Amino acid sequence: MKRSFDPSTLTLPTGHYIGNAYVPAAAEIAVTAPSDGRSLAGIARADAAIVDQAVETAKQALRTSGWATCAPRDRLRALQAWADLIEAEAETLAKLEAVCSTRPVGQAAVGDVLITATQIRFFAEFADKEGGDLAPTSAGQLGFISHEPYGVVGAITPWNYPISMAGWKLAPALAAGNAVVLKPSEMTPFSTLYMAELAVRAGIPAGLINIVLGDGQTTGAAITGHPDIAKVSFTGSTRAGGAIMENIAKTGVKPMTLELGGKSPQIVFADADLELVADCLARGILPNAGQTCVAGTRLIVHRDIADALAQKLILAFAQAKPAATWEDPAGFSPIISSQQLQRIDSIVQAAKSEGAELLCGGKAFDRKGSFYQPTIIAGVTDSNPAVTEEIFGPVVTLQTFASEEGALTLGNHPTYGLCAGVYTRDLSRALRVTKALEAGTVWVNRYGRSQDHILPTGGWKASGLGKDLGREAFLANRRSKSVLIDL
Ligand code: NAD
Repeated sequence: MKRSFDPSTLTLPTGHYIGNAYVPAAAEIAVTAPSDGRSLAGIARADAAIVDQAVETAKQALRTSGWATCAPRDRLRALQAWADLIEAEAETLAKLEAVCSTRPVGQAAVGDVLITATQIRFFAEFADKEGGDLAPTSAGQLGFISHEPYGVVGAITPWNYPISMAGWKLAPALAAGNAVVLKPSEMTPFSTLYMAELAVRAGIPAGLINIVLGDGQTTGAAITGHPDIAKVSFTGSTRAGGAIMENIAKTGVKPMTLELGGKSPQIVFADADLELVADCLARGILPNAGQTCVAGTRLIVHRDIADALAQKLILAFAQAKPAATWEDPAGFSPIISSQQLQRIDSIVQAAKSEGAELLCGGKAFDRKGSFYQPTIIAGVTDSNPAVTEEIFGPVVTLQTFASEEGALTLGNHPTYGLCAGVYTRDLSRALRVTKALEAGTVWVNRYGRSQDHILPTGGWKASGLGKDLGREAFLANRRSKSVLIDL
């Protein structure tokens, strides 16, 4: 089935979604299609008063719906109905995603949307299965630890996988009995708004999911600093994560989950299966044009196989044919904005001027829209900006090593610690290296998450604080209460 569509035929939601209604507001922020630079719509920018309205609506919905206190199975059923409706509406959601983002419509329809539906079901299952603990106290006492929802959770998501990121935030928070005020990225708001509409249609009480539109400085700050938002769950850049910590420190103390940037190494030993590795390395950087937090951007390869592997990758990269995100079958994705494309190119040029060598790419595609050629940069030192900075584009560096120790020295980045890939047929070495890697996730002889959502994801060091996915993400949306009763 071909899913190509004409972007000018879509009706785009542009206001805040609070309670069960769109709140009319002036169009203040322009949304542009990265595929061809066309102007799509102007969206609202929520100020503190609108965020307050969303928080009050969420509190009221919690009070009147009994969401936190109902039979947990009722929450599970409502969330599963939402997942079913998301699946049924995959085509519409995928178009709303593709029109303004970097996600090709076909990949969004059969990938992002369907995976999000399974993740919602995954978290729904915790609602009636994850309880508290009985404490081993003395016979004359009863001690137990109950886990309770926070109330209103504030969530902020990035532009790179809008549906998935909204699912990661909304599903565990709701399953745990909270309401949510969520701000999607100002560049890609449409699919998140529609997900919220679908939630109400599926029977999740109105007001439990409220979507406020706007930028980070005004709307994001109003969320993170709101006194009645009891917990913040953020995914985005390390820079914004730091600003959020600062704002929370200034406005009151509250827990936060921060999923931040990465600069993930892919370490390839000489005994690895080169065909498999080349495929994994390409799949670690080409999807979404490298605009993936977990993109494997630093190739660290044993010197004996570096040339052979580089040749295979150059061939794989040459297959990347750009196409607008509304075309199906999918082509190579655009860069989210012309500013981001310029930033990518300026880091590549700076890398070159510091002595690095371009093995391929190194410039924009000559066509409409923001598309950058897949790029391999070799001959880099540790201080080269292509190694130190998260580029967030289809750019990898290639460094070589001669010993396991040398691989680890290069592998552990001074700043980031999101993920890492290790390729070897030697199980003992795989386990040694995995243990020594400073990263929240390590993949061995593969690169990328599976669809078993039980493995949490989250970074070490400046890549983040806390986890999304897995049981940890459910528990992070609850706080524990210790109870001791003298009998
Ligand atoms: P960004 O930090 O610019 O923006 C992310 C979101 O935060 C947006 O909604 C933005 O409006 C908001 N925001 C910005 N400044 C804010 C502030 N001071 N207070 C509150 N909100 C603020 O990031 P982006 O460009 O949208 O996304 C790309 C970044 O996200 C990359 O660094 C990528 O690695 C990271 N990311 C991480 C993960 C992960 O799981 N670790 C997943 C996806 C993306």
